[in-house]
Amino acid sequence: MSEKRDYYEVLGVDREASPEDIKKAYRKLAHQYHPDKNPGDRSAEDRFKEIGEAYEVLSNPDKRQAYNRFGLAGPGRGFEGFGGFESGFGSIFDDIFEGFFAGRSGRSGQSAQRGADLRYNLELRFEEAAIGVEKEILIPRLDACPTCRGTGARAGSQPVVCRGCRGTGQVRYSQGFLTVSQTCGQCRGEGRVIEHPCQTCRGLGQVKAERTLTVKIPPGVETGTRLKLANEGEAGVRGGPTGDLYVVITVQEHPIFSRQGDDLYCEVPIRFTQAALGTQIEIPTISGKAVLKIPPGSQTGAEFRVKGKGLPNIRGYGRGDLVARIFVEVPTHLTAKQRELLEQYGRLENGAGSPLVQGFWEKVKALFD
Ligand SMILES: [Zn+2]
Ligand SMILES: [Zn+2]
Repeated sequence: MSEKRDYYEVLGVDREASPEDIKKAYRKLAHQYHPDKNPGDRSAEDRFKEIGEAYEVLSNPDKRQAYNRFGLAGPGRGFEGFGGFESGFGSIFDDIFEGFFAGRSGRSGQSAQRGADLRYNLELRFEEAAIGVEKEILIPRLDACPTCRGTGARAGSQPVVCRGCRGTGQVRYSQGFLTVSQTCGQCRGEGRVIEHPCQTCRGLGQVKAERTLTVKIPPGVETGTRLKLANEGEAGVRGGPTGDLYVVITVQEHPIFSRQGDDLYCEVPIRFTQAALGTQIEIPTISGKAVLKIPPGSQTGAEFRVKGKGLPNIRGYGRGDLVARIFVEVPTHLTAKQRELLEQYGRLENGAGSPLVQGFWEKVKALFD
């Protein structure tokens, strides 16, 4: 199939549609596009598959939740595991119309499947990302069913050879003078079905579970950092390996700090008298305070480095610096007294005190000479 469409769009229901609405919409479309009613029509067949795939996901609360959260692109390969519809487009139709739905015979079979990868979006405060933190996260996921240990078969029963295909996984039917071989819909080509599904998991071999995981976030992570927790994804089906969990980090903006590599940057406004006379100020760091000496005559844009007050290096090589970039604020409201004093000061100003101003006007003057 080419470009995938949104499953809700495929079924023509909105995102809040009830399970009944979804089932109703699916039935109607499945009837309309069923290959038996549209023999030889490729586009109807594709549409039928598309409808089946959408229903497969939206009719299952776990899969629907995952789809709502991740969409098709989400956990990528992991989500593909949910689809699995490619083989035998008859199966879902049979499930519903022949009442096999509860048994989910379509999912039963012998082949092991790797569990889906999960993605967890974790938002961290700036400091947490900077210095590292331990976070507890709640992971909804599918675990191997404890009752049947993931086989999907009721205790004491075994998967049996599929009657639909006698275990071959293929069925043949005639279309005009052609005999077409097709994947068996009852067993989805697996050749075996579970006749007595486990009641706990309805034959799925998996149950919905929630787990609390403690994730150690190393210092220095950034927005977009992906932490892989091997084997913390969904359980495999029928003994397949467990998927992985990816924790994807978003770091909140800090009100005064920004980050460049291991260095922290902070824009520090100072008064023009402080800039002119020099001063000592206390500035915040990510861990306590630091004293910053601003020499007389400091200009806007001057940077002062406080060694070792930046962020710990993500690879463990020491720490970066805190870089304070100052800018000089010119007062906007003057009292009468302040104005008087400044006017007095203005009369005392001379070129030596403002080399930039003086230099500029000298250049201007030269232009007209
Ligand atoms: Zn079970
Ligand atoms: Zn079969």
